[in-house]
Amino acid sequence: MGSNESAVTAFESGPTAYTREAVEGLKSRPTARVLIIGGGINGVGTFRDLALQGVDVALVERGDYCAGASGASSHMIHGGIRYLENGEFRLVKESVQERNGLLQTAPHYVKPLKTTIPIYSTFSGILSAPLRFLTHRQGKPTERGALLIKLGLSIYDAFSRGGGMVPRHQFAGKARALKELPQLNPGIKYAATYFDASVHNPERLTLDVLRDGESANMHARASNYVNVVSSGSDGVELRDELTGETFSFAADVVINTTGAGVDQTNAVLGSPSQFMGGTKGSHIVLDHPELLDACSGRELFFEHTDGRIVLIYPIGNRVLVGTTDIDAGDPGQVVCTDEEIDYFFDLIGHVFPSVPVSRDDIVYSFSGVRPLPRHDDTQPGFVSRDYRIERRDVEGPDGTVTTLSLVGGKWTTFRALAEHITNDALALLDRTRKVSTAGLPIGGGRDFPSTTTDAEAWVQGHTAPSVPAERVRVLLERYGTRAAEVIEFLQTVQDQAFHSTDELSTGEVLYMVEHEQVGHLTDVLIRRTSLAFRGLVTAELLHELAAVLASALHWDNTRRNYEVEYAQRVLSQTHGIHVQSLIA
Ligand SMILES: Cc1cc2nc3c(=O)[nH]c(=O)nc-3n(C[C@H](O)[C@H](O)[C@H](O)COP(=O)(O)OP(=O)(O)OC[C@H]3O[C@@H](n4cnc5c(N)ncnc54)[C@H](O)[C@@H]3O)c2cc1C
Repeated sequence: MGSNESAVTAFESGPTAYTREAVEGLKSRPTARVLIIGGGINGVGTFRDLALQGVDVALVERGDYCAGASGASSHMIHGGIRYLENGEFRLVKESVQERNGLLQTAPHYVKPLKTTIPIYSTFSGILSAPLRFLTHRQGKPTERGALLIKLGLSIYDAFSRGGGMVPRHQFAGKARALKELPQLNPGIKYAATYFDASVHNPERLTLDVLRDGESANMHARASNYVNVVSSGSDGVELRDELTGETFSFAADVVINTTGAGVDQTNAVLGSPSQFMGGTKGSHIVLDHPELLDACSGRELFFEHTDGRIVLIYPIGNRVLVGTTDIDAGDPGQVVCTDEEIDYFFDLIGHVFPSVPVSRDDIVYSFSGVRPLPRHDDTQPGFVSRDYRIERRDVEGPDGTVTTLSLVGGKWTTFRALAEHITNDALALLDRTRKVSTAGLPIGGGRDFPSTTTDAEAWVQGHTAPSVPAERVRVLLERYGTRAAEVIEFLQTVQDQAFHSTDELSTGEVLYMVEHEQVGHLTDVLIRRTSLAFRGLVTAELLHELAAVLASALHWDNTRRNYEVEYAQRVLSQTHGIHVQSLIA
């Protein structure tokens, strides 16, 4: 989802409201050595790392976890071959290493992605690329030719050496490429194929990292729907966005990982900055069996004639198409526009001219703002994707409070980046690192079965009288091996299958409420499951889910109806899905 959803207004839940343990954990002890603001993947990754080092750390997120840029990405865990052209060798090398690492530590969500670049010329881009490398300014982009792509892929392979996680790239001439992908544009000259990776469930991976942090250290506390609204002599003022209640919180070090909102957050903290220059990117998700078939399990990735990156690829039985790269003003107000959809259809027509697509095939759309550095006249596609950490010291009544602001930072590199910020914070606290996060399994990626035979054995070994094999399969895919904990939980509660979907049960929703900080109906539809992403939200599901959540979270009828109406609004205004209204 895009960042819009985080701007929910406070909802007065009334006297019977469910007590949120996460918020209580902050209110009952309103101090920490480190306060992290922002629960995207970079804030959450830093939270886990600091918690593993035994630091008293707290994190607040004003919306839901992974509801900003982290929930709006192209789902690629990649080295960023294209950044070579910008001269970002350090970043590409680190990204390739991190990609290889995530394939091992998070195999439940991060999967190898076979990627093909259709190539229409031999030499194009050869002259413009070094020019762009030297100036980093707006040049006249051209499509990349075969020689340039070959060079890039060879460097990419070299960075991957030693990781051993993905095979080397291959080049195919037109005849072989069209044999492998018959629907490809017959105008191509070559196709280059290499491997990257994709994260199938970024929202759940973020939750896994968060929960690993929470369990690493009894002092580590995190809450969603808690906004930093001002700062003063008692530290920062936090507002519970679900009740409107405010309270103060103090820390020695503040880490600002609020993505594209870093400057706004620094202003709230009394230390205005001008670090950021975000760009907007959108995607559509299509339910289109013919297009899915045409992709043949691969990502099609290339640069359009206007210099923008195009990707078309299967995620499950849907096809993801993106992306745009447009200078963004307000990071809170982005949606996929009609013009962007026209542009995507143009791209699909360019790659697969014989596959017709229409707006009726779109089941979901989303948009987000990349937290890029301020870039003046550099063209959005060529702004550095590397990250940096800015330090500010502010004098307060109880001494100096240091703020570390993250400028930039991709999904792919979250672990390495978190290591950097954590090292900086440890130095400020005069502490040393105890544990490395490199190679550390994440959540349900621990002991994840790596073959279909092992997966089936895992399923058979975890069935229970009330949890048949087909349900275990859904849970294994959704939670990785953490599913074992869910299955155990299901046996301790009254569990009933939903009528509106065979992917949810009342007990599982209760598990999410108790262990995964559900605040709104949309959290379950968009981030605890991928039901919205796959276009599987129906009016019946909205009402059934609202009834289960109302009982678990003590919502009265007003709140329950509000949640249904709010979910419909978010789905239609932010994601282009129109669910028939059932509110009388
Ligand atoms: C269109 C697009 C495509 C992308 N594709 C890829 C890709 O394929 N691969 C890749 O590696 N990267 C990709 N990226 C980049 C990547 O998604 C982001 O760089 C990364 O997710 C940023 O994470 P973050 O945690 O720094 O920021 P965010 O995820 O934006 O998190 C910041 C959080 O701070 C919260 N916040 C803001 N203000 C406050 C406040 N006052 N109090 C409390 N919380 C606050 C926000 O609600 C938000 O959740 C893409 C990005 C976009 C937009």
